[in-house]
Amino acid sequence: NPGATLSLRLIPYSDQLWLLVARDVSRLLQLEQMRRDFVANVSHELRTPLTVIHGYLDMFDPDEHPEWASMLSEMQRQSHRMTQLVEDLLTLSRLESQDELATEEHISMASMLNTLRREALALSQDKHHVSIEDTAGVDLIGSGKELHSAFSNLVSNAIRYTPAGGHIRIALTPDPDGGAALSVIDSGYGIPAQHLPRLTERFYRVSTSRSRESGGTGLGLAIVKHVLQLHQARLEITSDVGQGSTFACHFVAARVRSRRTSSVPAEH
Ligand code: ADP
Repeated sequence: NPGATLSLRLIPYSDQLWLLVARDVSRLLQLEQMRRDFVANVSHELRTPLTVIHGYLDMFDPDEHPEWASMLSEMQRQSHRMTQLVEDLLTLSRLESQDELATEEHISMASMLNTLRREALALSQDKHHVSIEDTAGVDLIGSGKELHSAFSNLVSNAIRYTPAGGHIRIALTPDPDGGAALSVIDSGYGIPAQHLPRLTERFYRVSTSRSRESGGTGLGLAIVKHVLQLHQARLEITSDVGQGSTFACHFVAARVRSRRTSSVPAEH
């Protein structure tokens, strides 16, 4: 099969012998590509009709139509959810089709932390304690837009899976290898250990009803995983049921820069 993609595995057979197993995975890769294209096309086709429906529905103020009030608000809520789902599917398709980052910029982590804090407070409607901690004092190299979307997803999860009155901490800390980690730590419901390895799969949920109620699309952590992969970063999840969860994004030293203390150029 000329042009085939082979997957090679070396398996120990005995003390001195190894087995080399070659498998033709061309068909698998082709099917995977077809799946990605299909999802991307369907999402793209759904975008326009949904925008129209959502736009028209938003023109109605439920308060002005008391007889339809509950029906209108539910329709607005569901059309918003569907729009969010389509946007997340498109984001995921875009990320999956990328082998490397389109932008490599110097990202100010001081302003990233402040933005995340503001977003957390807005989402929480001041029902949670939100704090930021920065013991690394570094910036990152990568795509500010993509990383912001990944970190926002973690912050939004922390708020959604933490009852009112709980704590959310967003921390930038140094890693021993010269890298740095951005962690989102909550004091929420926590996640039973058996679910942890599967959390970043699309639509994988610990509790379907709680996730639906909380307004998620089921794609947040899949997006986080892909954004981090493009940055050669690693997601580490630790959790205690009833105590809370920590989602730590570890960046290697090559992605870390000392912080620009001032925008004024240094004198030569
Ligand atoms: P969703 O839109 O359902 O939140 P995500 O991909 O963001 O989708 O998360 C997948 C699942 O992981 C969630 O449904 C939830 O069960 C669990 N989860 C994510 N973040 C947290 C968290 N901070 N605390 C508890 N559970 C979480």
